Amino acid sequence: MKEGIHPNYGPAKITCACGAVFETGSTKKEMRVESCSNCHPFFTGRQKMLDNAGGRVDKFKKRFGMK
Ligand SMILES: [Zn+2]
Repeated sequence: MKEGIHPNYGPAKITCACGAVFETGSTKKEMRVESCSNCHPFFTGRQKMLDNAGGRVDKFKKRFGMK
């Protein structure tokens, strides 16, 4: 299960309009979203996306021995 890792891929901070901040992995260091699972509990599409991103962050952290 080897994913192609973008050269600039690294930890990213996602800031939601509601003020919530999430850590994930991305080629961008900072991202802004208008809604998240915190302020939009019914936003299942976005929730799924965040879940996927979270799994990737987990792999990323394990890879570099971060917790
Ligand atoms: Zn939010």
